[in-house]
Amino acid sequence: MSDVLVLVGPADHPDPAGGVRKPALELLALARSLGDPAAVVLGTPSPEAVEALGAHGATTVWAVQVPGAGERVVAPAAAALEAVVREVGEPAAVLVGAAHDAREAAARLAVRLGAGLLTDAVDVQAGPEGPVVVQSVFAGAYVVRSRAVRGVPVVVVKPNSAAPERTGGTAAVRELAVADDGVPAAAVVERRERAGTGRPELTEASVVVAGGRGLGSGEGFALVERVADALGGAVGASRAAVDAGWYPHSQQVGQTGKTVSPQLYLAAGISGAIQHRAGMQTSRTIVAVNKDPEAPLFEIADLGVVGDVNEVLPQLAEELEARG
Ligand SMILES: Cc1cc2nc3c(=O)[nH]c(=O)nc-3n(C[C@H](O)[C@H](O)[C@H](O)COP(=O)(O)OP(=O)(O)OC[C@H]3O[C@@H](n4cnc5c(N)ncnc54)[C@H](O)[C@@H]3O)c2cc1C
Repeated sequence: MSDVLVLVGPADHPDPAGGVRKPALELLALARSLGDPAAVVLGTPSPEAVEALGAHGATTVWAVQVPGAGERVVAPAAAALEAVVREVGEPAAVLVGAAHDAREAAARLAVRLGAGLLTDAVDVQAGPEGPVVVQSVFAGAYVVRSRAVRGVPVVVVKPNSAAPERTGGTAAVRELAVADDGVPAAAVVERRERAGTGRPELTEASVVVAGGRGLGSGEGFALVERVADALGGAVGASRAAVDAGWYPHSQQVGQTGKTVSPQLYLAAGISGAIQHRAGMQTSRTIVAVNKDPEAPLFEIADLGVVGDVNEVLPQLAEELEARG
């Protein structure tokens, strides 16, 4: 069976617990349907990371040493992937997550290999002529299936496209050293930890509760946060709410904000402008709360509640909190 390479990180590794973040485990689940999953890690993975990767289907963990990997941005990840691709010969595919650095590493890798790059995949399936990538486009109105016609397909997969699967296996660690390729690259000059909210990262969360102008004020976001916390989710915001200074720009969902693809997207007081939909349309289940029954978001919502957010959200939070 051909290898399917999965890039772990740079953003996925290491996580605070020394393990591996969920998006990489999701990629391993997808990789299993295509071939023999092999994880590619920059540097030396922790024993916890190797254990987690093996338990989720990786038969091999490639620990790749690249000069300056800690200080240089993105280029080392592309160099590591290229080295493993050349080492294994002809892998069935290379899968990477949708974080900005991973996307860029994927693009650089595709250029280095002269291979096809497919982005924003929501599924990857085995096909007679190689992996078939599924994308959901135009507010989820179309499903596109495509495949690379040249070289090793390099595929960028959206978070929450697959559920992590525990196989209970173990992975063999193989070490590989890459010479400095001299590729000019940006360098990290400082790292500062951002104060955490305790909530999951917006782009990775399996539940996102988002608020818009219909909340009426920044205080309205306390209600959104309460519902998000009861569901273990992240908080998102429309651009109108962000522009009003009600919530940080880092949480904006949409064309000029972040793209999210959770299992559940609950939108409170958001009209559903096309630019907002561009960032959340691939969410598995969409619930909209809006007092206007004609709000455009209802067109793509799986469940619509016509009502005032100030009445609906507290009742929802109470019910969820009561259920624990
Ligand atoms: C180039 C460009 C890029 C953009 N990028 C983005 C982007 O990334 N993300 C984004 O979100 N927008 C983006 N926009 C803006 C977008 O066009 C909309 O203006 C914005 O999404 C509207 O936000 P909203 O739905 O919160 O506000 P509104 O459109 O004002 O909608 C508020 C909704 O709340 C409802 N409401 C009011 N009061 C209540 C209540 N008490 N209870 C329940 N419902 C209530 C109303 O019926 C209405 O539907 C972009 C625009 C442009 C031109």
